[in-house]
Amino acid sequence: MIKANDPKLKSWVEVPTQSDFPIQNLPFGIFKTKYLSPVAGVAIGNHVLDLVYLHEHGYLDGLGLPPGIFNQKYLNDFIALGRKKSRDVRERISELLRHDNDELRDNVAAREIALVPISEIQMLMPVRVPNYTDFYSSEEHATNVGSMFRDPKNALLPNWKHLPVGYHGRASSIVVSGTSIHRPKGQIKLPDLEQPVFSASRKMDFELEVAFIACGETKLGKSISTAEAENHIIGFVLFNDWSARDIQQWEYVPLGPFLGKNFGSTISPWIVTLDALEPFRVDGPEQNPEVLPYLKYSGAKNFDIALEVLLQPEGGDPVTISRSNFKYMYWNVNQQLAHHTVNGCNIQVGDMYASGTISGPSPGSYGSLLELTWNGSRPLQLNDHIQRSFIEDGDTLILRGHAERNGVRIGFGLCTGKILPAL
Ligand code: CA
Repeated sequence: MIKANDPKLKSWVEVPTQSDFPIQNLPFGIFKTKYLSPVAGVAIGNHVLDLVYLHEHGYLDGLGLPPGIFNQKYLNDFIALGRKKSRDVRERISELLRHDNDELRDNVAAREIALVPISEIQMLMPVRVPNYTDFYSSEEHATNVGSMFRDPKNALLPNWKHLPVGYHGRASSIVVSGTSIHRPKGQIKLPDLEQPVFSASRKMDFELEVAFIACGETKLGKSISTAEAENHIIGFVLFNDWSARDIQQWEYVPLGPFLGKNFGSTISPWIVTLDALEPFRVDGPEQNPEVLPYLKYSGAKNFDIALEVLLQPEGGDPVTISRSNFKYMYWNVNQQLAHHTVNGCNIQVGDMYASGTISGPSPGSYGSLLELTWNGSRPLQLNDHIQRSFIEDGDTLILRGHAERNGVRIGFGLCTGKILPAL
């Protein structure tokens, strides 16, 4: 049992009901303020705890942390210390924030500096991302896309249930929540023309995903087993894999997505740790046919995380357009990492591995507009006078996610991005 996960814990820091950040969460991130350069912090209620201050003033003594470990632009060096070290830090922060612990609670001067109101901060990328891989692990999503573009009777290709399909994405264009994205331009093949045209995308879409972040490093040639995989995973963020469907459809044969995807992906800023999500494990779907031995696993490896997508037109209110759940994944993260490294591919600290679009079984749970509007053929009615087939300029997409059990709600914060006109 991880002590910091105890549902009975209460903090002396006020945590509003329905907050994503109760004392049982304590996610790690990087923030800055008007006065502070980028530093590491932990979210609690509507505040962020400044880890540099805590470390420099002795509150984290005895944990064997290297000097300056939190006074950095990214969390890579900290998470590279391993799962055990981040667990020890989270346990210690939990202790400091407990309602009955007076170390920080009764030191008003320290508290004033260490606890920064969320309204005064700007969140930054939590890690430097050396590599980004995107999987395709939701059976419902793969079936929908296969039905739409190929054959509803053979929607899944023969390999799909034998391996977690994936491709290498673009790490340089991953941005933190709140960053606007310009509509991409590229080659589009219109159905009534023989030659492609050059144009701004007319089928701009989002993809609802969850990504895990690697905290370990392996040498070339080494594989990670499904049993070892979690030692290399620090936690999760929400992930919007923006997609230009028209560019994607023309370019993707035979090598897969390229410019239809690599112009931007947006993540939520807080790394919700695997430790915090322990109480929310559930069994994944039954895998049939039986997988090869290197993909076998034991235990509950899926997570019950409710996901929601909202679309906010310029000047309007956000409207929920999808509700899905991370638990629908056919392939779990252990299998994804085992498959990724089975050939000897090395992993690096900060690597991001996205799940692939997470669609549920019902139309209201589809994780992209491509599926929600069936490639634009059934527009969504947002309100009396606004409908959408794909994303329009000025639209903001908002991803949210949280796990809830025994009165504890572990959330991710927001993953938002606005689409601006093409440059
Ligand atoms: Ca994707």
